[in-house]
Amino acid sequence: MKVLVPVKRVVDYNVKVRVKSDQTGVDIANVKMSMNPFDEIAVEEATRLKEKGAAAEVVAVSCGVAQCQETLRTAMAIGADRGVLVQTDAELQPLAVAKLLRALVDKEQPQLVILGKQAIDDDANQTGQMLAALLDWPQATFASKVELADGKATVTREVDGGLETVTLKLPAIITTDLRLNEPRYVTLPNIMKAKKKQLDTVTPEELGVDPAPRLKTLKVSEPPARKAGIKVADVAALVDKLKNEAKVV
Ligand code: AMP
Repeated sequence: MKVLVPVKRVVDYNVKVRVKSDQTGVDIANVKMSMNPFDEIAVEEATRLKEKGAAAEVVAVSCGVAQCQETLRTAMAIGADRGVLVQTDAELQPLAVAKLLRALVDKEQPQLVILGKQAIDDDANQTGQMLAALLDWPQATFASKVELADGKATVTREVDGGLETVTLKLPAIITTDLRLNEPRYVTLPNIMKAKKKQLDTVTPEELGVDPAPRLKTLKVSEPPARKAGIKVADVAALVDKLKNEAKVV
């Protein structure tokens, strides 16, 4: 069984992003980029499925600029067998990515696609759901446990009220939540091995997909700066301020 794992190159989660002065977006020039953390969890899960013998091949795919190759190499250092770069300089919105992934699913015929639940740059939380709709495949989002047996996936999902367990018939889409696993530390020997793994490049045109954006960003702005706090002398002064100044009690 083949597992496809889409991995997105995003601004590293430790970076404090700044809005560009013309308010068209955030400034990513000279900023550290990494694999979206939920996608690392997805690659780890697919690799564990392979190690358990439940999957035969893990294929990582990234859509975007040429530097996404680095993200694919990281996926291969974790355990993916090969990588596919869908190379484009175009701005990619979730629907475009879902269409590109559908075209790759048609080509690669995986039984399972494991995506992150959301990309931490745009926080869309849409691609997995859109891909499931385009393919008309069952989906289990926010997975915290995945088990495969008899052509079915049993997935535990984190929902508001607790945990929900669903069974899906393969082929299916799964998106990962934070507690699904803890991705392994990528070792130097595995980084070296990953350099020799197969990495193919295709273009949206070759896949027959028009990735043009459907949504227009009007403005991106910084959140309002927090005002400085004050220290109060005692609890009585605090209660007084909450009652008479903030008027919240
Ligand atoms: P989003 O819907 O943008 O929050 O992204 C959800 C998931 O879709 C991510 O965690 C990735 O698994 C996948 N994804 C989104 N954009 C890309 C991309 N450009 N290349 C590969 N995978 C992507």
